[in-house]
Amino acid sequence: MCGVAMRNERNRELFERACKVIPGGVNSPVRAFKSVGANPIFIEKAKGAVLTDADGNRYIDYCLSWGPMILGHANKAVLDEVRKVMGRGTSYGIPTPLETALAEMIVEAVDSIEKVRLVSSGTEAVMTAIRLARGVTGRDNIVKFAGCYHGHVDHVLVQAGSGLTTLGTPSSPGVPADFARHTLLAPYNDLAAAEKLFEEHGSSIAAVILEPVAGNMGVVCGTKAFLKGLRALCDKYGSLLIFDEVITGFRVGYGCVQKMVGVRADLTTLGKIIGGGFPIGAIGGRADVMRHLSPEGAVYQAGTLSGNPVCVAAGIATLRQLKERNPYPHLEAMTLRLCTEIAAIFKAKGIAHTINRIGSMFTVFFGAEAVTDYASALKCDTGRYAAYFRQMLEAGVYLPPSQFEANFLSTAHTEGQIEKTAAAVRRIDV
Ligand SMILES: *Cc1c(COP(=O)(O)O)cnc(C)c1O
Repeated sequence: MCGVAMRNERNRELFERACKVIPGGVNSPVRAFKSVGANPIFIEKAKGAVLTDADGNRYIDYCLSWGPMILGHANKAVLDEVRKVMGRGTSYGIPTPLETALAEMIVEAVDSIEKVRLVSSGTEAVMTAIRLARGVTGRDNIVKFAGCYHGHVDHVLVQAGSGLTTLGTPSSPGVPADFARHTLLAPYNDLAAAEKLFEEHGSSIAAVILEPVAGNMGVVCGTKAFLKGLRALCDKYGSLLIFDEVITGFRVGYGCVQKMVGVRADLTTLGKIIGGGFPIGAIGGRADVMRHLSPEGAVYQAGTLSGNPVCVAAGIATLRQLKERNPYPHLEAMTLRLCTEIAAIFKAKGIAHTINRIGSMFTVFFGAEAVTDYASALKCDTGRYAAYFRQMLEAGVYLPPSQFEANFLSTAHTEGQIEKTAAAVRRIDV
């Protein structure tokens, strides 16, 4: 930071060591920095909006653990609460009052959620939502949109097959083609394509799953017409509408983005922010659907560490602050300011780009005019993004290590840090 060339000896050493015992040296693939042509950094500590790596380099963090750290790192009230709860034991596998308290907060904040079950990751939440939808409707097919990410569940690790078929093909070895063929694919924000899919397959569709604001092809907002149209299609054909709000839940406002667009999902998946930096996921929705989950109903779901008191305490401490402080207007204003500065700088430099933003999440797409779906996202200049990422890292700013991810701000980001970030963007040459 501050113009001193980044030190990297310890980071390199740690990566070499990690590669010997961990596949690719990382526990989640994007962390390997492959798509930005760099070696990963190893973090020693973080406070507020700042990460410190093993070589002592400091970075202003715009990835925030992929979204959860909306209050910044090492938030005092979260840590205090976690320490207090941890002192009484860390897991019982027996109900605690904390679980009900978090469930009550979620039910209160999200209109469409009448009952909620806690799990340990967003992936698990999605897996459960899909099984529940299939169990309740007695149908096998689901509709998924290209570019939406729903965790590493088999049924949604699916891409468009060759010959423009709408039947999914596995996007990873190990996903049986027999699973993938139950996933029907459609382009995001294209209601006509979804209508056609329903005309052909409607009676076999258990659910439509989507991110109402996509964060995993970069930020792409679902249009109101698209989301309302999907609601109507689901109603017409007796399918369930699942909103995957693992990123957007409590990020864009206190609650879910479905409130902003006035569309009620039947089931909603949550994660990230509701765990305050600890592993968590949740699935919630209509009481008459949720009651089919075991032990009330027959759709099986379970978890040794589900509703873990430490994770739940961190979640409660996070949501409580978000509710009391209502930081959303401030977060949005700061994010808008940063995006406006970046846009002005790139415009002055003649760098073609477009910025998609909602609340405190945004993506700078290079070399694109408008990004509204996966096809337009793929037109971006990922080489340019890689250069941008690497130079910003050198300048002490940590961005998501892929063009197709969201940037986030936290309540810990200061005006000074926004200014420093803009100054770095001004200096670099991409
Ligand atoms: C992160 C994410 C998931 C998966 O959550 P994990 O906790 O990583 O399993 C699912 N859906 C969306 C929209 C996400 O952003």
